[in-house]
Amino acid sequence: MRNITLIPGDGIGREISEAAKLVIEAAGVKINWDIANAGAECIEAKGTPLPEDVLDSVRKNKIALKGPITTPIGTGFRSVNVSLRKKLNLFANLRPAKTIKGVKSRYEDVDLIVVRENTEDLYAGIERQIDKDTAETIKIITRKASEKISEFAFQYAKNENRKKVTAVTKANICKLTDGLFLEASKKIAEKYPEIEYEEILVDNLCMKLVRDPSLFDVLLLPNLYGDIISDLTAGLIGGLGIAPGANIGENMAVFEPVHGSAPKMAGANKANPTAIILSGVLMLKHIKETKAADKIYKAISEVIKEGKEVTYDLGGNATTMQMAEAIAKRL
Ligand code: NAD
Repeated sequence: MRNITLIPGDGIGREISEAAKLVIEAAGVKINWDIANAGAECIEAKGTPLPEDVLDSVRKNKIALKGPITTPIGTGFRSVNVSLRKKLNLFANLRPAKTIKGVKSRYEDVDLIVVRENTEDLYAGIERQIDKDTAETIKIITRKASEKISEFAFQYAKNENRKKVTAVTKANICKLTDGLFLEASKKIAEKYPEIEYEEILVDNLCMKLVRDPSLFDVLLLPNLYGDIISDLTAGLIGGLGIAPGANIGENMAVFEPVHGSAPKMAGANKANPTAIILSGVLMLKHIKETKAADKIYKAISEVIKEGKEVTYDLGGNATTMQMAEAIAKRL
């Protein structure tokens, strides 16, 4: 029996987390879920949206599966998601975007990996109001974090037999910060002569990605560009409902979908559970439960290809739980 932290989150988080639990257990993996709640609802009881016991649970168990958590826009508390990644030093955000047959999309055979730096850049949250009509924010890029994420991207590319790493910046404008990120990625690239290395500006990348995603393989980006581009790559494969992710540190990892808490859909039991279940697949591979991971991937692919018991965004009318049950039945 393995202890794993489950942070259900809020919005659609609770529904999709239940669905993921059902599917992972149906694959025969014995897990003792350590439930840890975070988000706005914790403020009243514990005085913070990210209670210390949530961090302690992940530190103890080393592995967590997480649903999305709402962040108030323009006001209110800072992102729980960003704080969690920073406090646990989960420096690498891995977001694969791979076509699943049967999902409607303009593109076929997309197979991209987004590697996003997860701890600095504009997400440092250092902002100030200069006067009532002027505000500023600080973008922090360090050599240490840039080299670390570059090393992660190249090592991942090597382990997964990927051919190319593309470093993405806006170094023509942000000459010092993005320039430093490029300097670091170039230095690490020299250690991996077997992997092709190229550089591109983020605006040009957007244009090229929507024209032909097959031009790219592993994308290496600072925090903000990585956040934005990974929603774009999710769009290339048919939407956020099927895009998984992982936040990886030295000896801990938190697995969560790319999508947010979709507050308008909360409680309606109609959100697509695929993204969090596929995040669970990444988690099972990480803990070397490869057989169970492969079984779940196959079952999801079959259910989606058949197209009968899928949620609204995939053209069906199944509820979150009905889709999860259809996947579990195949296991
Ligand atoms: P969102 O990802 O919640 O929703 C964007 C669109 O995708 C919406 O139309 C939504 O209905 C759809 N969608 C998302 N998940 C889906 C699913 N599983 N099935 C079907 N459709 C799905 O993005 P948003 O509306 O910009 O953000 C909502 C909240 O989520 C914000 O508070 C934001 O800060 C937060 N957020 C949290 C995380 C996280 O917890 N890691 C990530 C992104 C956004």
